[in-house]
Amino acid sequence: MKKVVVTGDRPTGKLHLGHYVGSLKNRLILQQTEQTESYIMIADQQALTDHAATPEKVSQNVFEVALDYLAVGIDPKKSTIFIQSQIPELAEITMYYMNLVSVSRVGRNPTVKHEIQEKSFGQSVPTGFFVYPISQAADITAFRATHVPVGEDQLPMLEQTREIVREFHHLYRQAVLVEPEIILPKANARRLVGIDGKGKMSKSLNNGIYLADTEEEIERKVMSMYTDPNHIHVEDPGKIEGNVVFTYLDVFATDTVKVEELKEQYQHGGLGDVFIKKYLNQILQEFLAPIRSRREGYARNPDQVMQMLREGSEKARIPAKQTLSDVKKAMGIQYF
Ligand code: ATP
Ligand code: MG
Repeated sequence: MKKVVVTGDRPTGKLHLGHYVGSLKNRLILQQTEQTESYIMIADQQALTDHAATPEKVSQNVFEVALDYLAVGIDPKKSTIFIQSQIPELAEITMYYMNLVSVSRVGRNPTVKHEIQEKSFGQSVPTGFFVYPISQAADITAFRATHVPVGEDQLPMLEQTREIVREFHHLYRQAVLVEPEIILPKANARRLVGIDGKGKMSKSLNNGIYLADTEEEIERKVMSMYTDPNHIHVEDPGKIEGNVVFTYLDVFATDTVKVEELKEQYQHGGLGDVFIKKYLNQILQEFLAPIRSRREGYARNPDQVMQMLREGSEKARIPAKQTLSDVKKAMGIQYF
């Protein structure tokens, strides 16, 4: 059976290692899979739900996110990359879905709840932000996605999407939509922690290593990483749990035998933070150098990148129009 893969990112900043392991990596694998259609959305409307006062930040980052996609190997010939706001059908479908979800149900979404706290919105949370999971359900179902490869924070969004699909089919007695399945990354990459060891690596929390970071920036960030605060002298035994350097080694190092040896030695005592940080730095530099150089290449051709986005947006509009028409027909409001 044909797979349809839909994912997206908010253009609130450049993409980081969390995006890579949490979602981009699986998108790259699926892009190569036979009989798979892939759509990748730059979610500018969703980004505006908490950036209404700074739309220029969102519009500028549309280009940056597109560069990140191309740099990691997303191929516009195989994956349709588009800009959310250029497909008005998505907002229209959102309007119909909003009537299928209660305010209290939206309020129970644990990811949104957490984000409202993190952003200190309190009672002044913008309505658009509060309901963004519903608009995300429209984005996913507009393409009749069968698979959505994302990080763990997206589990509640997928659950909400599936509920909307079921409710729509139940109310209008026509199975015009598709219930998507989530594809999560390996357990240790579902929610990659930030370099401060506090929360998930996130553009908003300023704790990320970006795909575009320079060699110096990467080194500085690795050397400042949170380890074990009680591991003061080289001979002290150190902790692995919560130690960001080892978390990243588990995710990015290919020599797993060596990582296990280092862990053993660290826990025993006799291995300094500087040593493990230098080892991680070397691994991340090797991983990021080719991505950075491809990124610089595309950045020199902004017209070509914008043209790719224009073509992708035109192409993605076709299935979205069809879904909107099917939705309206099922609801009996396709008048003419
Ligand atoms: P913002 O702070 O603006 O919300 P973000 O860094 O959380 O930005 P998003 O654009 O919200 O990034 O997320 C895009 C995709 O990347 C989602 O699929 C999400 O699950 C995944 N993702 C983001 N951060 C991480 C992370 N630290 N670990 C794993 N996956 C992540
Ligand atoms: Mg986010």
